[in-house]
Amino acid sequence: MRGKLVVGNWKMNGGLRQNDALLGDLRAAWTAPPGRQLAVCVPYPYLWQAQAALSGSAIAWGAQSVSEHAGGAFTGEVSAAMVAEFGCRYAIVGHSERRALFGEADAAVAAKAVAALAAGMTPIVCVGETLGEREAGATETVVLRQLDAVIAAVAMQLAALVVAYEPVWAIGTGRTATPEQAEAVHGAIRGAILERYGRDRADAVRIIYGGSVNDENVDSLVSKPDIDGALVGGASLKADSFARIVRARTR
Ligand code: PEP
Repeated sequence: MRGKLVVGNWKMNGGLRQNDALLGDLRAAWTAPPGRQLAVCVPYPYLWQAQAALSGSAIAWGAQSVSEHAGGAFTGEVSAAMVAEFGCRYAIVGHSERRALFGEADAAVAAKAVAALAAGMTPIVCVGETLGEREAGATETVVLRQLDAVIAAVAMQLAALVVAYEPVWAIGTGRTATPEQAEAVHGAIRGAILERYGRDRADAVRIIYGGSVNDENVDSLVSKPDIDGALVGGASLKADSFARIVRARTR
């Protein structure tokens, strides 16, 4: 069955010295029990540092985005093949900050997921509604539209995705979805996959929750049957709180 996965998203934070301390503390704090996986997604310039600090440990690392393009005249872009050379197992794609601040549309997110898969990585595909969309009763429509674009592009590799349900109103706000709210959307995502692609794929896809997860709310979230772990922003920047999140009870 699906294991639990906790992924830290450092966003645009870090520095050589503080990364050394954080990665070292994390490595010292974490031995993986069966069925539990941990990863950190760091800014591009620090991928080598994550690779050096975490190689040989049970902690994986990844990038926070990849280009949808394979290479060429795309100044400032970084390809999936490039980050894969630094041993990345994961690449976040379609984070709401990328969608809102950098204009990434569903088609671009789908192309990034395809690029990540082609480079041998697991894309962590972020989906989530804004507060206005939730209040308008459009949560499922929005989330499934975002996901459909990716699924149509990755086709048979669907089971290789991690989906991150991240309600936009809960990211970095201290306002978390209740376990019931989150489980309802996770269940809808899995249900849609089941209906269209069958039981095997629906059971295989990991769906993790993100949005102000911390060491106090993580247990109740990940104890829900369709919540397979967490994508953690702010609370992943401190080794002690992140280690407590990673050790969350799961049932
Ligand atoms: C995120 O960056 O994906 C995130 C969920 O951030 P935070 O945990 O800070 O809300």
